[in-house]
Amino acid sequence: MIAVADIGRVGGLIAALVLAGSAQAQNPSLPAPVEQAAHSYITRAALEAPIRFLSSDLLEGRGPATRGDELARLYLQTRLEGMGYQPAFANGAWQQPFDIVGLKGQFPKSWSFQGRSARLDLSWHADYIAFSGVQKESVSIDDAELVFVGYGIQAPEFRWDDFKGTNLTGKILVMMNNDPDWDPNLFAGTRRLYYGRWVYKYESAARQGAAGAIIIHTTPSAGYPWQVVQSSWGGEQFALPAGSEPHVRIEAWASEDAVRRLVKSGGYDLDKLIASARSRDFHPVPLGIRTSISFTNRLSSVRTANVGGVLPGSDPKLRAQVVVLSAHHDHFGIGEPDASGDRIYHGAVDNASGCAQVLAIAQALASLPERPRRSVLALFVAGEERGLLGSKYYAEHPTFAAGRIAADINVDGGNIFGRTRDATSIALGKSSLDEVAVRVAATQGREVKGDQFPDRGYYYRSDQFSFARIGVPALFFDDGTDYIGRPAGWGRQQKEQWEMKKYHQPSDRLEDSWNFDGMIEDAQLAMLSAWLTAQADAMPTWKPGDEFEAARKRALAAAGGS
Ligand SMILES: [Zn+2]
Repeated sequence: MIAVADIGRVGGLIAALVLAGSAQAQNPSLPAPVEQAAHSYITRAALEAPIRFLSSDLLEGRGPATRGDELARLYLQTRLEGMGYQPAFANGAWQQPFDIVGLKGQFPKSWSFQGRSARLDLSWHADYIAFSGVQKESVSIDDAELVFVGYGIQAPEFRWDDFKGTNLTGKILVMMNNDPDWDPNLFAGTRRLYYGRWVYKYESAARQGAAGAIIIHTTPSAGYPWQVVQSSWGGEQFALPAGSEPHVRIEAWASEDAVRRLVKSGGYDLDKLIASARSRDFHPVPLGIRTSISFTNRLSSVRTANVGGVLPGSDPKLRAQVVVLSAHHDHFGIGEPDASGDRIYHGAVDNASGCAQVLAIAQALASLPERPRRSVLALFVAGEERGLLGSKYYAEHPTFAAGRIAADINVDGGNIFGRTRDATSIALGKSSLDEVAVRVAATQGREVKGDQFPDRGYYYRSDQFSFARIGVPALFFDDGTDYIGRPAGWGRQQKEQWEMKKYHQPSDRLEDSWNFDGMIEDAQLAMLSAWLTAQADAMPTWKPGDEFEAARKRALAAAGGS
């Protein structure tokens, strides 16, 4: 799970959405050999052993391009080989290498703007935070004009276009955070979609040929205070090597107060600008403010790799399509010590536990008397903690065309607190895979709930998001919350404590206190969901109007239909 904070406001709708219904009413049982395999191969020992290995001191926290990274990859590769999987990549390769570029920007202490009458300086850190959109050692923008573009969103499915054909080449776009939130039929109401996330904003500005973008930070629209922006975006940034896609040169955030002063220097009132943007009829507003800025970057590059194996499908036609089971294998390596002096970021839950689950699921599927109809790809991606980079690289260089990937079933983290009456499906409400999850959970006597922490944007914070971007629907299960034999609220409390004390810290290590019963059931849920998806006559589909439906249509057309 990546930490980069982009927390939306609580969307009560999804939290409350519990799918009841038709699937449970029918006999929910699955074929006996399939259920048997789930129980025989997904066991405590099958999960605990790989976690013990991958999170051990010897693996040194599996930081990209370290010895521990190479050992983890070799281990995963040889496990798949032993199960009878085939190498997933070109020329019989088990690994798909790629580079991670590091960027450390050096920005001016003071960024000057010339308004109609007054000059205004914004201070680094106090007023603005920025990073480089381009991978160059020195970058400059010369006398660019600022234009307020509202939300900066183009979404044909919501008949929304903030740009209205305005020529924005070379401009610096001042954009609001989040997406329209006042109507449940518009951008899913209060739930933040991809359109409301900062990554989208910079991409959207780049598509307009803009030189830069400044996102206006407000605490309500971000869901977190300015200090979080300061601490999350001050350091080194990581990316895949730049390709041909457009990028703005500067990707900035500015505090609400700073933007208020800034637009005032052009003679505008921020509240009025924001009010005018809450409409389909909004047009970009040139602010009468110009600016120049130069900054430098320190560049670095390291090489790591995704690991993958394929279990070919049994159906002569459907085997050209694939169900992906993904888990990231990287973590933070060796870094700053914690209070106990431990410097190794073991990443036992995050994500040795996900790798272990995918290994056990892969083993269970390979052991079926009859192979699944569609092919199965067990994919261990690299560089997730650096910004979903391995899955992004795979999505840009897939071994099955995007339109032939039925689904991504991603596992990031595992339940270490015990069995639950519920199962959490982070992607609930997005695709027909909901019915698969509900059906399988019913065989376990569990009900499926949506994201229990919708303010945290988990859907966009692990590798299923890279697949969604190329149109592939996903299942992503998180711990249930209703623990058997525990009082209400106990699970939430455990999870919040774990996040505070262990998440992304050296103390995320395998402990005797772990209860594997919930993780076993969640991994069985993922395995049986993968099997059902691999067997189904038709590919899964997005719910009509979903933010990623258009990408799926393009992918299916490119792959020659489903
Ligand atoms: Zn993580």
